Amino acid sequence: MRVEGGGHGGRLLPSPVSRLLPVTKGVAVLGSTGSIGTTALRVLARHPSRFHVAALTSNANATLLAEQVRATGAPFAGLVSGQGSVPETWCLGPDALVQAAQLPDADIVLNAVVGAAGLDATLAALRAGKRVALANKETLVVAGELVSLAARENGGEIVPVDSEHSAILQCLAGRPDAQVRRLILTASGGPFRDWNRQQLAHATLADALRHPTWQMGRKITVDSATLANKALEVIEAHFLFGVPYDAIDVVVHPQSVVHSLVEFVDSSVLAQLGAPSMELPVLYALTHPERVPEPAIPPFDPVAASPLTFERVRLDDFPALRMGIEAGRAGGAAPAVFNAANEQAVALFLDGALSFVGIPRAIGSALERLGGLPGGSREALLEADSAARRHVSTLFQSGSPDSRFPIPDSRQ
Ligand code: MG
Repeated sequence: MRVEGGGHGGRLLPSPVSRLLPVTKGVAVLGSTGSIGTTALRVLARHPSRFHVAALTSNANATLLAEQVRATGAPFAGLVSGQGSVPETWCLGPDALVQAAQLPDADIVLNAVVGAAGLDATLAALRAGKRVALANKETLVVAGELVSLAARENGGEIVPVDSEHSAILQCLAGRPDAQVRRLILTASGGPFRDWNRQQLAHATLADALRHPTWQMGRKITVDSATLANKALEVIEAHFLFGVPYDAIDVVVHPQSVVHSLVEFVDSSVLAQLGAPSMELPVLYALTHPERVPEPAIPPFDPVAASPLTFERVRLDDFPALRMGIEAGRAGGAAPAVFNAANEQAVALFLDGALSFVGIPRAIGSALERLGGLPGGSREALLEADSAARRHVSTLFQSGSPDSRFPIPDSRQ
């Protein structure tokens, strides 16, 4: 407030600054140094009249986190597992995610953590009644029912950042469930879309990391190559939109321009299109249901994007997709086991200790052994998660003599 002088006896007026500045929403970006996190900070920097950064967390990249804190002025910084000297004000350890998610100034929690490690932060934000802009699809896969319940009971909401689910949300546009017949998720097919089984048996890490259309982190890039990512997305769609598994289909669309489609009961189909960039899904997750001008995203050119083609998905050659959908249908702890076995197998693959075709084998073995575990609580699900990780580590570590699951040599 300031006092205005002059011949009016002194009047209290709101300060020009507070009168001009609209109230901005605080966004906590969990996983800010990863691929989605850095994209989100770019998007947020272009919309300072709507958003400010309330918190940043990184798994282990202290150097980039420090730069981001300086650039955004974020009042809270958390480092989950980094080492070395960091500013005293930073919050350290896994609890940093939950703390950031609960900050009163964080109206929106953008969860871009990789893997099941993001679960507690999603639950904490929903229980605090916040919007979760969810890029961490694994939390819905591991604990879809618990997460949905936490949102319903506390007035929180989940808005997807995943491009396919963002597309579906935009196509649904609030229409009642009774009008929806089917969701059709598109899949790029990954780098091995046209590889035959013999070629797949010799796929290397370098091959798997060469994604044709999307620039993403390493874990999700491998998931896109095995199509495990699409299985995670089918389960994610089931929980996000409350649609039964029978009404969710996957179609291969190599150009990654049609981000997904919704078929309605009259056979009309709506699709959402755009360049394969995460900037729009990130922005939309922050502004939904509003749309805001975004001059930095170039206009869509349908001719330049042509031709747009579609193919049937090859379930027999990419068994991770089939197993993941079956795990989703089975329910209980099966989706958590699928996810944890996949996370562990991908970590081994990235270390050169497991072959590409060893990934679905590891998942299949874990599901066979542990897929029937109960999943009623967070604790039960996390127990199934740990058991699946242990199972894969023990059976599939480099040099494992287990003859039931022979692994071709993957070393390049
Ligand atoms: Mg996706």
